[in-house]
Amino acid sequence: MFDWVLDLLFPPRCPVCGRYTEGRDMWCDSCFAGVVKPHRLPLEAEMHGLFAGGVWALGVYEAGLRDMLRQLKYDGRKNLLPGLHQYIAAGIRRLPLTGGHGRRPEAGNGSPGDGQGGLIDREGRRQAVVAVPVPLHPDRLRERGFNQSELLFREPLAALEIPLQSALVRCRATTPQFGLTAAERSRNLQGAFALADGGEMAGKKVIIVDDIMTTGTTLLECARVLKSAGAVSVMGIVAASGRK
Ligand SMILES: [Zn+2]
Repeated sequence: MFDWVLDLLFPPRCPVCGRYTEGRDMWCDSCFAGVVKPHRLPLEAEMHGLFAGGVWALGVYEAGLRDMLRQLKYDGRKNLLPGLHQYIAAGIRRLPLTGGHGRRPEAGNGSPGDGQGGLIDREGRRQAVVAVPVPLHPDRLRERGFNQSELLFREPLAALEIPLQSALVRCRATTPQFGLTAAERSRNLQGAFALADGGEMAGKKVIIVDDIMTTGTTLLECARVLKSAGAVSVMGIVAASGRK
């Protein structure tokens, strides 16, 4: 059907509040302004040591954002991607990627890096940076047909010239982490991830990306593998987290 016919019959609406919008499946201005909330997540000591660049959530996993992320993941609603990309791109731009990974999200915009784990050094040279999505088990990937973290982050990161590389594989299926104690979670995931063939990490700064962070054990295990493969520093970015 022609787009204009579609727009006439079903005018585009904000997927969150239902207000009429300019583009299909795009946020209205007021929902968008309220949803982009990059924040650094508090980490337990073990993670803190591994994630020199910290772990950042681009917003809070609640309300409309939660619905969109769930609909993408579980119902395969890829029509939500343009709106989610717009959200992720805006969030990433407010992270201190060019400077040290300070606590103030706006601190790094265009300012010279301080050498504390920033992705661009004092001379403005881009360091070897690569983003790695948390992998799904091959069975899950076949069933779902896509890795949501890859779908969410590849395009917004490409705009910043940060390549996304599927450098990790999930070598065994794991039971869901929900309801397990910290020790059980860690045991459950031990050895669950490995470096993919050709996944060269030596000397690279790595950004691990995932759709949400719940307990952090998954990110922790991924970071362990990447560090032992030679990554010089690791930071995490998740689309959303339940922690504010
Ligand atoms: Zn709205």
